[in-house]
Amino acid sequence: MIVRRLVVGPFSENSYVVGDSASGEGALVDPGGQVPELLALAQREKLRIGKILITHAHWDHVFGVAEAKRLTGAETVLPAGERSMLEHLAEQSEAFGLPVPEQPEIDRWVAEGDIVDVGGLSFRVLLVPGHSPGHGAYVSGLDALSGDTLMAGSVGRTDLPGGNYDIFVNSITRKILKLPAATRVHPGHGPSTTVGEEAETNPFVLEMLATGGR
Ligand SMILES: [Zn+2]
Repeated sequence: MIVRRLVVGPFSENSYVVGDSASGEGALVDPGGQVPELLALAQREKLRIGKILITHAHWDHVFGVAEAKRLTGAETVLPAGERSMLEHLAEQSEAFGLPVPEQPEIDRWVAEGDIVDVGGLSFRVLLVPGHSPGHGAYVSGLDALSGDTLMAGSVGRTDLPGGNYDIFVNSITRKILKLPAATRVHPGHGPSTTVGEEAETNPFVLEMLATGGR
């Protein structure tokens, strides 16, 4: 599986190009901006972008979605629980004093366990709320595009509107950490890591486990 990262925007958000070289089919994950650069990256990997997978509807993860859809005609995919977050993009922008993004159109609202095919790859939707109300991760084999959940040495924040720490702890300990230890985690911010590495060394995760995953 091809996974390429481009760090974009004022919050250093990770946008990804994923795909498989056998089929030449690819997807953008959380295109938060710099869309022409993302598409050039896809082109270098000889991937045709047919899907746009979105983990959650925070400003930094969706800023480039409408533009990417316009340029590629790709199908946009977002967990259904993120609908209200997406509808409040203007308020999110105002809160941070940022430009209001073009409102993205969502073609497919997904739920827990749904499968999204990208060429020969099958991504399973894992709902991992807490950072945002309907946050999802997309898991294919030993790769997880995990958004703002488990990060290298860190975790997503839960103090933004719609965040909930107890729900977040449950998502980390009972969902993400249940993936095989060798699973490569490609987060929304910072470098990639593995489930096993974070389960052993991440102080936020260790704290969650020590308090019984509340
Ligand atoms: Zn976020």
